[in-house]
Amino acid sequence: MALALAAAILQLTLACAPAAPHMRAELVLGTLCKLSLYGRDRPETAAAVFERLRIIEARMSANLDDSEVSRVSRSAGIAPQTVSEDTFYVIKTAKEFAELTDGAFDPTIAPLVRLWGIGTENARLPSEEEIEAARRLVDYRGLILDPAARSVFLERAGMGLDLGAIAKGYAADEAASILRAAGVESAIIDLGGNVYTLGRKRGGKPFRIGIQDPAAERGSYLGALTITDRSLVTSGPYERFFIEGGRRYHHILDRRTGYPSDSGLVSVTIIGASSIRADALSTSVFVMGKERGLALLAGQAGVSAILVDESGAISLSGPESSSFELLDMKKYHLE
Ligand code: ADP
Ligand code: MG
Repeated sequence: MALALAAAILQLTLACAPAAPHMRAELVLGTLCKLSLYGRDRPETAAAVFERLRIIEARMSANLDDSEVSRVSRSAGIAPQTVSEDTFYVIKTAKEFAELTDGAFDPTIAPLVRLWGIGTENARLPSEEEIEAARRLVDYRGLILDPAARSVFLERAGMGLDLGAIAKGYAADEAASILRAAGVESAIIDLGGNVYTLGRKRGGKPFRIGIQDPAAERGSYLGALTITDRSLVTSGPYERFFIEGGRRYHHILDRRTGYPSDSGLVSVTIIGASSIRADALSTSVFVMGKERGLALLAGQAGVSAILVDESGAISLSGPESSSFELLDMKKYHLE
């Protein structure tokens, strides 16, 4: 109810002064999605982007009973399910990242996600037995894809699919391609922290994007960097969590332990031309930790990263990280 009201209020299309962007914001994909179009007003283009985001949500959300993802989960151990090209592509990409990261990224994490319920009203600390039972159902090797039939099958009953760590990246790529096809030269797509910049600001300057300080309230930045035609995706333990017994339990889970990942990293930002890859990598590196994460990134051409660990040390990786500007030098330092 409160959410519906917020959505209604946020669905405002501001007709602004020439230099200001045409903005539209809506709750979709489980987050606040904001589109800023610079240049002339293009309400029809903005509408087309949000229409596409809604289709992606309807197909890929694990929280909607009639999504394709939910249908695959319900059919676990029973029968393969044919899905749309969209969904098949995202699941295929997710499986590739699971293989690449040896399961640090695992789209079959759903049984653990459901058990913990983090970010929902049912969030709670499960028992060891429950964690162990759910953990045994998480294994990307039991996610079977048949490209010829475009079908997806979870081998064992009780398994489940969750594309929460990758679908927003795909959505940002799709939004960017709609904007490009419409001839938009300058825009920012922000899907709840999953950002894509298209072109440059007026006057030719690149966009400057802040990186959230994981230890401060939303909107305070530890640093910033300038990017053009790139996606910037941050994963952190500060977005969705609950506190119990003085401990914080967040929403990125480690299938090896069944608990929220505890790799020593508090924020991982990935910059790259492909948002789906950046999204998958941000979650992967967050779970893998600094050492394994940097090794993984070294093998990813054209990808840059900013890693923050719990001591406040910041590690940079890749060409694009050279524009990183540290803003909070009290709490953070470059390695
Ligand atoms: P956010 O959704 O906050 O942008 P992420 O992209 O890192 O952050 O995705 C986190 C979401 O991905 C979780 O809410 C959950 O649905 C799912 N998830 C949690 N742990 C994993 C994991 N180890 N591998 C793949 N997906 C995960
Ligand atoms: Mg991610």
